[in-house]
Amino acid sequence: MATRIIDVLVPVALDQTYSYRVPDGLELAPGDVVTVPLGARGETTGVVWAENANPNPRLHNRMKDVVGKLDVPPLKPELRQFVDWVAGYTLSARGMVLRMALRMGEHLGPERERVGVRLGGPPPQRMTPARARALHVFADGMTRAKGDAAKEAGVSVGVIDGLIDEGALETVVLPPEKVTLPADPDFRKPEFSLGQLAAGDALRTTVDQGGYTVTLLDGVTGSGKTEVYFEGVAENIRKGRQTLILMPEIALTGQSLDRFTARFGTRPAEWHSQLSPRTRARTWAAVAANEVQVVVGARSALFLPYADLGLIVVDEEHDPAYKQEEGAHYHARDMAVVRGSIAKIPVLLASATPSVESEVNARRGRYKRIHLPERFGGASLPSIEAIDMRRDSPPRGRFISPKLAEAVQTSLERGEQALLFLNRRGYAPLTLCRTCGFRMQCPNCDAWLVDHRFKKRLVCHHCGFNTATPNECPNCHATESFAAVGPGVERLEQEAAELFPDKRILVLSSDLVESMERLRQELDDVAAGRFDIVIGTQLVAKGHHFPKLNLVGIVDADLGLGNGDPRAAERTFQLLHQVVGRAGREEGRGFGFLQTHQPEHPVMKALILGDREAFYSSEIALREASGYPPFGRLASLVITANERHAAESYGRGLASIAPKDDGVRVLGPAEAPIAVVRGRHRFRILVKAPRAFDLSGYLRDWLSAAPKPKGNVKLEVDVDPQSFF
Ligand code: ADP
Ligand code: ZN
Repeated sequence: MATRIIDVLVPVALDQTYSYRVPDGLELAPGDVVTVPLGARGETTGVVWAENANPNPRLHNRMKDVVGKLDVPPLKPELRQFVDWVAGYTLSARGMVLRMALRMGEHLGPERERVGVRLGGPPPQRMTPARARALHVFADGMTRAKGDAAKEAGVSVGVIDGLIDEGALETVVLPPEKVTLPADPDFRKPEFSLGQLAAGDALRTTVDQGGYTVTLLDGVTGSGKTEVYFEGVAENIRKGRQTLILMPEIALTGQSLDRFTARFGTRPAEWHSQLSPRTRARTWAAVAANEVQVVVGARSALFLPYADLGLIVVDEEHDPAYKQEEGAHYHARDMAVVRGSIAKIPVLLASATPSVESEVNARRGRYKRIHLPERFGGASLPSIEAIDMRRDSPPRGRFISPKLAEAVQTSLERGEQALLFLNRRGYAPLTLCRTCGFRMQCPNCDAWLVDHRFKKRLVCHHCGFNTATPNECPNCHATESFAAVGPGVERLEQEAAELFPDKRILVLSSDLVESMERLRQELDDVAAGRFDIVIGTQLVAKGHHFPKLNLVGIVDADLGLGNGDPRAAERTFQLLHQVVGRAGREEGRGFGFLQTHQPEHPVMKALILGDREAFYSSEIALREASGYPPFGRLASLVITANERHAAESYGRGLASIAPKDDGVRVLGPAEAPIAVVRGRHRFRILVKAPRAFDLSGYLRDWLSAAPKPKGNVKLEVDVDPQSFF
């Protein structure tokens, strides 16, 4: 009998599969998860990718055997195809992408058995008060965990053990705890407004018909998008298929989980980087075994081994956090659409400020659009006003203009909450010596150190370097000579505390988040009105619903505009629109104030006039004229090295051998805007191509002909880059 050979993809940074012999008696098919020997690393978990189509008999002697097959469902063809697709598109090694699909806690081994205790034979001969108490607890005939029973009876676990030994209690093996309980699609249906009703119906129909479609659920902030897309989810649950709801950030999932529970009577499964290994393993297995109906997760949830995925929802689809910037550089919204098309299922994108990409697709009819133009419950959208900082400037060293302070005061007097938004962590972005002008800079990066006063440290926001704030200037040794330049949220808090004494102020900033639970608690506290003023970074911009919040002040509306990023205007518009959209969601009127030096800027004008269409139309026209996405395609090649010269010369060499193509422009290498990060010099080549061009194929041809980077030089490929620093 001929030896059977299969090709296995292993989760390491390699693109190719390895061939292994299948030992007699082992049944294997593509998709099976197997253990295989791999070089000096010992054994690894991999996935059978294909039958070996091209066996080379001479290799057989050196070829190793598959060690064994794991007792998990095989990866379905649609997931394997997705892995191949993502790898091909992002120019990542297939093994790296597979690794994301195999995050199932490989080294955990089998589940620990759960043992329960219940009443067994006759009572023991020697009865003590403790034993009597313990037996009394079990008198109801229920099964309990040993520890729980001991606690309930107020006895030691030893007492329970004694009773087990004597046969008065017996142990039973409990079925494994379920990751989730069945969701009820009709548990609690909200009373919908007419607009919501129509939108919900349209979504139900879309899900019911099935097949690959993309729908943009385009609803203003507070229109009830979540409740509406839950109608699509409910329909998918009724069909018995699995749903993935993607969230840009796990901080956001808290409220969503609660809302899901209120609507469907049980919690969904969660998937993100902060799960314990045990929960991760159990969730992975339950998703593969079709025991989970709905997963709410961060972008990596796209790679879970769904047994029967029927719907993908991408909430806040415009959010930049969907782009993964390490390893495989993929955009989860775009890949959700790809996964939907491979699995032939509906994809739903929800946003109040769609990405320009999705907006163009909807305008051109490639995506269906479902519109929710009004807030739920008759609440109106906030009215927005600019505060011209050239005229209404705050006093020296202050950042809240008198006009904004007055508005906050009025709102607090009404018993409402105010949010001051500043997208800058820490106390001040720059610290300098008043005596000699020396600026505190990161030793590893081309960046200033940010003063974090709550922690009494100077921190680099690029590499994490941090140091205690020194007593004297490292340059001139002057003492008490440091000046903080510019504001961060911590400094704003100081100012707000002086302006509004006795008010309860909370600073929400990712670096101050001690734990997910704590953050969820704080967000709940805000929602419950236990704070008067919230000062926050973009952490507060997204999705949250704070009923008492009626005033939002944007402390520096211009902050994101001047950074040379082709998406700066879009990002600023989305971010500010979302932040201001936190105001006036229930009772009372919402007000937004934009402190800006350029009130005539198109972004500010669109925000003030509430004219979203005007913003999109002008932005789309601009992109079209300049060939920027989605009218053209971009890729960036980032070259880093320990020496500036090495990075630059590798970049030059690379650019010089770029294949000639009339449509393609290769720009650079140019020193990156932040030229040094973590002690590594950075150069960037930007590739611009027409929309219909196979940019990944072009890059692949180019890079396969290029010399491999040597020594400490590294090359990173970023197709559809979102960040340009
Ligand atoms: P969006 O995501 O569009 O900004 P949300 O989904 O957060 O809006 O909805 C805003 C608020 O209105 C939430 O508290 C939500 O529970 C509530 N809401 C929306 N629709 C309804 C409804 N039909 N019945 C009751 N409450 C609703
Ligand atoms: Zn640094």
